[in-house]
Amino acid sequence: MERRKQITIDIEKCNGCRSCELACSFHRLKTFDPSNSSIRVYRNDGEGNLELSIISTCDGCPDETMPLCSLFCSSGCLSYVGELADLN
Ligand code: SF4
Ligand code: SF4
Repeated sequence: MERRKQITIDIEKCNGCRSCELACSFHRLKTFDPSNSSIRVYRNDGEGNLELSIISTCDGCPDETMPLCSLFCSSGCLSYVGELADLN
C-alpha cells in the first residue's frame, strides 16, 4: 500500500524563497527546475500577496523520509504532519 505524506500550508509564513519548487523538481526528476515542480509559488499581481498551489503531479513523496518541499522550507510555511494511506 502506497502511503502519501501530508503537509499543511501556513501562507502567512511564506517568504517567497521558492526552495520548495527546487526541492520538488529534484524529487520528481532529479533536476533543479521550478518549471518541473508540483508546488508553485506566485505573487498575486493585484495585491502583491504570495500564493501557493500544489498541482496534480504531486505524489506526496511516498519514498522520501518526509516531503522534500517541507524539508527545505525554512520559514515554517510547509509542515509535514504525517502519512495518509490510499484506499485502493
Ligand atoms: S520554501 Fe517555504 S518559504 Fe520558501 S517559497 Fe516555498 S513555501 Fe514559501
Ligand atoms: S509533497 Fe513531494 S511531490 Fe508533492 S509538492 Fe511536495 S515535494 Fe512535490
